[in-house]
Amino acid sequence: MQIINHFLTITKHRHQVIKNCFLAGIPIRGLLHDLSKYTPVEFIAGARFYQGNRSPNEGEREAYGYSKAWIHHKGINKHHFEHWTDYNPKTRRTEGAPMPTKFVIEMFCDRVAASKIYMGDKYSDESALLYFEKGRKTRMIHKRTSDMLEYLLLMLKYKGEKFTFKYIRRLDKSAPPESFKYMSDLVDKLRLK
Ligand SMILES: [Zn+2]
Repeated sequence: MQIINHFLTITKHRHQVIKNCFLAGIPIRGLLHDLSKYTPVEFIAGARFYQGNRSPNEGEREAYGYSKAWIHHKGINKHHFEHWTDYNPKTRRTEGAPMPTKFVIEMFCDRVAASKIYMGDKYSDESALLYFEKGRKTRMIHKRTSDMLEYLLLMLKYKGEKFTFKYIRRLDKSAPPESFKYMSDLVDKLRLK
């Protein structure tokens, strides 16, 4: 049981996300970010499977085959694309559903902060994009959500953090993901190259 280390890790992460969310113009999302990690179901598993360089959910999965903490976490935290999945009556499969813009941005803030903690001094503006690439093939995510996230991660890689947060701050977070079609267009174009 690594109670103190786990507490420090999640609190440090939360503070970095809060900072990013303020820079991105979604301060309330920042203040509410990941509060469920302090509930018993998530906190106890987190402390028991604490590893420091990767998510404790992975340790819990190795032990039980699945992570109860993660099921709880994604169920109530809308900044995870895994929350936004639903049964499609046409295909009869569970598929990605569109994620509101403010939560896509919170997810971006979360991934940048998490990459910094896990990568340490190996972190660069490309780290979060590389992590995104790794899961691309198997990820169950709505296309618009994926494209918006990828667009912002590409911007981070090529233009840096200051530029990207300034750009995000000016986006209309109440606009639905469909209004950012130009992001999908650019991502599609780059992939066809
Ligand atoms: Zn989270």
